[in-house]
Amino acid sequence: MAVRRPELPRHGHRWRLAQYPAQYHCRESPRLTKRLIPTTSQSGQRMHSVKTVKSFCRICSAYCGIEVDVADEQIVEIRGDKSHPMSKGYTCTKGRQWAHQYHNDNRLLSALSRADRDQAFTPLENEQALDEIADKLATIIERHGPRAVAIFRGNGLSVSSNGNQVAQAWLAGLGSEMDFSTMSIDQPSKIIAVGRHGAWGGGGHGFAGADVCMLIGNNPIISALNMTGGPPGWNPTSLKEEKKRGLKLIVVDPRRTETAEHADLYLPIRPGEDANLLAGMIRLIIDEELYDKEFVDAETEGFAALKAAVDGFTLDVVAARCGLPAEDIAAAGRLFANAGRGSASSGTGPDMARFPHLAEHLILALNTLCGRWNREGDPVTAPSLLAPNIPPPAQTIPPEFLPPMLNPALNTKTSRIRGIKQVFQEMPTPVAAEEILTPGEGQVKALIVIGGNPVMSWPDQEKTLAALAELDLLVCIDIMHTATTGFADYLLPAAHAFERDGLAEFTDRLYDKPFGQYSKPLLQPRGDVQEEWRYLVGLARRLGTEIHLPGGPIDVHNDSLETLDILELMFPDDSVKVPVRELARHEGGKVFEEFANIRVGAPIEGLDAKLQLLPPEVAPELAELLATPTVVEGRYGEDGSYTHLLAVRRVKHVYNSSCHDFPKNPAGNPAYLHPEDLQELGLRSGETAKLQSEHASIQVIVEADSSLRRGIVSMSHCFGSVPGEAENLALSGANASKLIAVDRDFDPLMGMPRMSGFAVKLSAV
Ligand code: SF4
Repeated sequence: MAVRRPELPRHGHRWRLAQYPAQYHCRESPRLTKRLIPTTSQSGQRMHSVKTVKSFCRICSAYCGIEVDVADEQIVEIRGDKSHPMSKGYTCTKGRQWAHQYHNDNRLLSALSRADRDQAFTPLENEQALDEIADKLATIIERHGPRAVAIFRGNGLSVSSNGNQVAQAWLAGLGSEMDFSTMSIDQPSKIIAVGRHGAWGGGGHGFAGADVCMLIGNNPIISALNMTGGPPGWNPTSLKEEKKRGLKLIVVDPRRTETAEHADLYLPIRPGEDANLLAGMIRLIIDEELYDKEFVDAETEGFAALKAAVDGFTLDVVAARCGLPAEDIAAAGRLFANAGRGSASSGTGPDMARFPHLAEHLILALNTLCGRWNREGDPVTAPSLLAPNIPPPAQTIPPEFLPPMLNPALNTKTSRIRGIKQVFQEMPTPVAAEEILTPGEGQVKALIVIGGNPVMSWPDQEKTLAALAELDLLVCIDIMHTATTGFADYLLPAAHAFERDGLAEFTDRLYDKPFGQYSKPLLQPRGDVQEEWRYLVGLARRLGTEIHLPGGPIDVHNDSLETLDILELMFPDDSVKVPVRELARHEGGKVFEEFANIRVGAPIEGLDAKLQLLPPEVAPELAELLATPTVVEGRYGEDGSYTHLLAVRRVKHVYNSSCHDFPKNPAGNPAYLHPEDLQELGLRSGETAKLQSEHASIQVIVEADSSLRRGIVSMSHCFGSVPGEAENLALSGANASKLIAVDRDFDPLMGMPRMSGFAVKLSAV
């Protein structure tokens, strides 16, 4: 299928703080001013003062507290807020460079449209753009039904406290189930595993005060993301403090990561073998009777079946499969099980590799066997101000009371592609391109991309490009031009975080203190930018559809709605500990001490459910894993001719497909290899090589990295040049997703192709 050449996005110049007027700089230091300082312009005119405002960074969902210096509607400096009770001054390089995104020449400041994709965009009023988009959507729905309309919600929407929920409710109001997001190409197995294993009302052991922490394929010092049990994303350096206190850290990763440097026990596993390692540890813990017998007897089902199912995962078998010494695996099992408190958790590593749902289930099973769930009277790990003021019960939550996303009975819709199933109430993104390309009833004809960049983030870039070109209507709502906006028919300008309200709603369920934060806009909106929900409300009004939130429907005809009104519908006052409007009164956030001592409550009588150690879906996966032959080092792929495994890598300076043009970022996306592997291949750091998978080949620049185990190529996803532009490997890096085909080596449940731990080989060019 021919791909129409897109209009290339404009790339902004590299905005630097150093370019900002010198009046704002301290004399003594290159650091910029912190406090209100009267300044004068070069012509001697008095300028506005620099004002410091507290807010929180929303590039990623760690939501670090920040102080922002603002003057003349410009951001002067961003730094960590040392008084922030959660992040305590921590920020990463992205957060400190965030102003670049706001001031970027690439910002979308007005709606743009074009009648034909070969033409240039022309600006138009937002209202006119919505009229035209609504007309086109109505025509598509009339001809093809509501399923022909899909949305893709990207990471950019995480900046919006209400965007995800409003977008999903908007699509549901339209009658379409074609809701795609980044969740299903990242760590979907974590959600699937909880649906199978069950959820414990009292929550898991937290990180603070833990005796042990086991991190599998997760590098929180770089990714700033960890669910309960690992170092908190907003303060990953707390790892050092907890270690000083006595925490024992086990890290499982093919690379001695920045986090692994702190490990008491580091297991440099072969990529894709996490499920084997976990099965082996579970076997040892059962065999040596190190598990929490009282908890297992009282609160679980399937112990005997699990014991039988892991019997074949002896230390010798597992050691050979994982490429690890048997004694290290045994030491990890004993260290984890003998500790009093603490959890195992993971990052993208296991979820992007083979047997992802099994690996995530075994992590939960390991925690359950060791009784790592809070009991009655224990302090609640995450008091959550946006949840009801009811003590969580020390019991398994029956499936019918789980949120719809976790309830398998409420996830029954099926994609037209390969029978892939709906998961957590979403259609898996790996089938999105084929849902657009495959003719027939239900074919997706219109896509609304909100804060996302499918061209850079969807696996199988070639198929993605063909799909975008095939659409009758592509609308992008974004703060800036991206590789994807070049394919669009309409662009709608979204407000940057500095121009909008923000509620730290994602971290609310993770904070170990009753802390909440709300940020008001720091600056006037530039141009015609608006929050995403306003566009969706405008479309619903025109299409005559509804947007239902937990507190009721949005009044789409009410022009005076504010963000707080929407947030109140998402978090009604009678369902939260602290109303959203109260949170909004405290700049910089507040710890609500009255909720500091919430304890896990007694089980609720009449509710009878158990945690499942070997649910029916997991048993065949475990049997399949055991029956899978041990891979032979250096002989990968179907014909054994592939010499290396590609392992995905997180880097601190970008967040998936965003932040790539920040001024202080290093350039490129090298393919890292162990120095001896490079030498064996006759390659040297900085040279260009051909990297080939079973699907495709790309050119990469290789780089030595002695922190890797041998036999690994380590790269990041979401890099690469804009399609249609000349490839600049040194600057933009290579796009590793070109190596992946969505229709081979994919997970049969939700279609995610193997995005890490797949076979590759390298050769000189
Ligand atoms: S970790 Fe970095 S990008 Fe994420 S919220 Fe904190 S400062 Fe922002």
